[in-house]
Amino acid sequence: MTRNRAVAYKGPGKVEVIDIDYPSFELKDGPGVNPENVGRKLPHAVILKTVSTNICGSDQHMVRGRTTAPTDLVLGHEITGEVVEVGPDVEFVKVGDIVSVPFNISCGRCRNCKAGKTGICLNVNPDRPGSAYGYVDMGGWVGGQAEYVLVPYADWNALVFPDREQALEKILDLTMLSDIFPTGFHGAVTAGVGVGSTVYIAGAGPVGLAAAAGAQLLGAAVVIVGDLNGQRLAQARSFGCETIDVGEGDIADQLEQLLGVPEVDAAVDAVGFEARGQGHGADAAEAPATVLNSLMDVTAAGGAIGIPGLYVTGDPGATDEAAQKGSLSLSFGTGWAKSLSFTTGQCPVMRYNRQLMMAILHDKVQIAKAVNATAIPLEDAPRGYAEFDAGAATKYVLNPNGFIAA
Ligand code: NAD
Ligand code: ZN
Ligand code: ZN
Repeated sequence: MTRNRAVAYKGPGKVEVIDIDYPSFELKDGPGVNPENVGRKLPHAVILKTVSTNICGSDQHMVRGRTTAPTDLVLGHEITGEVVEVGPDVEFVKVGDIVSVPFNISCGRCRNCKAGKTGICLNVNPDRPGSAYGYVDMGGWVGGQAEYVLVPYADWNALVFPDREQALEKILDLTMLSDIFPTGFHGAVTAGVGVGSTVYIAGAGPVGLAAAAGAQLLGAAVVIVGDLNGQRLAQARSFGCETIDVGEGDIADQLEQLLGVPEVDAAVDAVGFEARGQGHGADAAEAPATVLNSLMDVTAAGGAIGIPGLYVTGDPGATDEAAQKGSLSLSFGTGWAKSLSFTTGQCPVMRYNRQLMMAILHDKVQIAKAVNATAIPLEDAPRGYAEFDAGAATKYVLNPNGFIAA
């Protein structure tokens, strides 16, 4: 049988590259697999030989022990691959195609999928609407930080790249289509960014930087990125963003220095529930509601806040009891008084990935540069996770089968 090496969660702070089964057209029992999904037949799936698969801040929430992810869960939801086998019900995707896979698994048949809400598909996760590869509480679909991975409902989920050579040439850009580029772009779109907007993006991780690149693509007049990590702020400046260090003082004051007014038209939360307190230097303690509250403060009345940053229903590592159940102390009255709108949830990747692919293929955006994409071998995943966790201004791209040239 073909060998299949994969990155697995091994308990808080630990990942290892292990041997797992080569995929089959049936969902087998394993770590994190929902019992109702065991034995599910997948004639509509394809098997991919992974071309690239990225490490994400969403993986870090699990690896830091901040979720109920089980040991041995195979990680990886950002997948690009070459089709090596197609199931009997696959009509259009072909062996040899290079495809980008939205991190959301969706069926294309339920009412939410039909409405384009692929982040909350009703048919793929028995626990709740919405699913993803290699993620806790997402149904148990095996992760793609592996040499081979199975993709269900392939005719619906796979985005086929038009040209193989060109795809491999631009792979460090195209690999961002599985998650962070659409996710950051969705943050900007749902924050109402358009030509001439002033935008504040909290978080200079890969999602924040992708949101910044997305806001530029949408025509924003000024894109301001905030973080406490100096290296990541320098990365944001490298492609034309303004930056503020949220450890160094009030955000509204810093915005006023840049814009002449203490507010912006549009704001994006690209941080999520592991947010650090603001105005308290680089070692600030965690304050899960601080980003949401400060964005309500600095967004102009009538504006919108895009919230790709992840919030959970259970957080074993939270400092207070309410936050352990996902309850945060929000100044919601501020948002109400200013008639602000909010968009949360998984990004429906399919709504944007084809258009953003075209923008990449026609050199309208340099997303790999913006997020400092760096390819490393699959076996080096533990180092990639550790460096990313330590705050490297790098988006790590795993290269399991040597498709990405040195
Ligand atoms: P990341 O952890 O690399 O980046 C988060 C950044 O926020 C870090 O640089 C950190 O220093 C910074 N930060 C912490 N507190 C801050 C504060 N108060 N103000 C400003 N910055 C602060 O993660 P990432 O990969 O960039 O992902 C960001 C978030 O987006 C995560 O929560 C991730 O789970 C989520 N995400 C959501 C979706 C979706 O579909 N909605 C998809 C991908 C990722
Ligand atoms: Zn991701
Ligand atoms: Zn569906």
